[in-house]
Amino acid sequence: MELTIGWLYPSLMSTYGDRGNVICLQQRSCWRRLEIKIVRLDLNSSARDFQDIDLFVGGGAQDRQQEIVMRDLKGEKAQIFRDKIESGTPGVFTCGSPQLLGHYYEPAYGERIEGLGIFDLVSKHPGKNSQRCIGNIAFRLTASPLAQMVQARTGEPPIVIGFENHGGRTYLGNVQPLGRVIVGNGNNQEDGYEGAFYGNAIATYAHGPLLPKNPFLADWLIETALELKYQKTVQLSPLQDNLAQKARKAMFKRLEVGNLA
Ligand code: GLN
Repeated sequence: MELTIGWLYPSLMSTYGDRGNVICLQQRSCWRRLEIKIVRLDLNSSARDFQDIDLFVGGGAQDRQQEIVMRDLKGEKAQIFRDKIESGTPGVFTCGSPQLLGHYYEPAYGERIEGLGIFDLVSKHPGKNSQRCIGNIAFRLTASPLAQMVQARTGEPPIVIGFENHGGRTYLGNVQPLGRVIVGNGNNQEDGYEGAFYGNAIATYAHGPLLPKNPFLADWLIETALELKYQKTVQLSPLQDNLAQKARKAMFKRLEVGNLA
């Protein structure tokens, strides 16, 4: 079996190390002997490139880069991207990416950047004198059916760890949050929600990068992409994740969420 991963605007949206998500998906797939193709969906990509994607990855960016991306992600490409997410193509979108997949993002300086409106959410930067939300984050995965599927497969309570670094605050409309914040700021420091989940697309403020720190999410994305592509149930063989588990335990301890995990 093979999978094509579409990496959204890597030359503009790689400020925060989210490339690690692409590497993690690639490596965990290779260990299962899956064929992986990575397509860089940069400024010169075509609608056809978007059409071939089985799993999308989008990383964080600075406000200026986000504006350039949105000037490019229009017309047929945007339509294909939207149709794919709406028909269940999985994806993981971090920080700057979800801001663009919502209705709009109001940056610290300059005009409002119109988004694609795929996720029913809006994001606003409260201004240059506001504090950025920076630091380790832990949240309980609550989005359905993702949380239930993860718990059934791993047996562990679905707690996600990561690192957030954002000025924008996100407010959800009619879309489920990805989780509830245990430690950190999450979407907006106010309502306790973190990220969003729509179709099979994960939106989050958690860099880290997210997937190597939470490998069960990587496996869920790979399985979901394969199931959609091949229209059959797929169960990936388990991997030795001892090191990742050790790192997770150390972070739980540091964030004092050990008693919850
Ligand atoms: N520029 C956006 C913000 O500061 C996104 C930052 C990011 O992707 N980490 O909110």
